[in-house]
Amino acid sequence: MRILVVEDEKELAAIICKGLRENGYSVDVAHDGEEGLYMAENYPADVVVLDIMLPGMDGLSVLKAMRRKGIKTPVVILTARDALTDKIKGLDAGADDYVTKPFAFGELLARIRSLLRRRTEVREAVIRIDDLEIDTASHEVKRGGRIIPLSAREYALLEYMAYNRNRVLSRTDITEHIYDESFDRDSNIVDVYITYLRKKIDAGFEKKLIHTVRGAGYMLKGSDV
Ligand code: CA
Repeated sequence: MRILVVEDEKELAAIICKGLRENGYSVDVAHDGEEGLYMAENYPADVVVLDIMLPGMDGLSVLKAMRRKGIKTPVVILTARDALTDKIKGLDAGADDYVTKPFAFGELLARIRSLLRRRTEVREAVIRIDDLEIDTASHEVKRGGRIIPLSAREYALLEYMAYNRNRVLSRTDITEHIYDESFDRDSNIVDVYITYLRKKIDAGFEKKLIHTVRGAGYMLKGSDV
């Protein structure tokens, strides 16, 4: 899943980005409103974390402009403590949730997970597909009750496929959601990670969950439990 962070305080932006990456998200960052709007429009994110107090174009203006342009990406706004009017204005302008500064990073993470679930109509923190279990809070993955250790990148790919289960995902879909700008998009990195995932998720199981759709991409196929 790909997160866009719009925050002008560089130190805070760096901390948020680092924390999100450690949790398996790919992250793009913008340090002012204009850049944030440009990124939201041109690089599809799954969630936007948007600071309200930004120099130049402020967060509320960014949010309003996004919604006017038909960008429906869920947005968590960052507001100053006790700035009640910011929260109200933000929610009225189309924000989906807010976090008050200073915040515990775990709270921001939980809000992001909640928005990702809402968007994909998954209600629980654990996604269950056949005998595969993905705990989106702890990132623990099990198949047939057995824990499968995954790297952060493997987990990110599996989670993205699980949120979009039974849908064909092109390599472009996957690179856009799993990898940020720092990744070489022309490489065969998606195929490489699919191979890794197959070895961990499907090898030794009669029913394969990861399918190649020739000429189109990949699909995680199974029934919701
Ligand atoms: Ca700020």
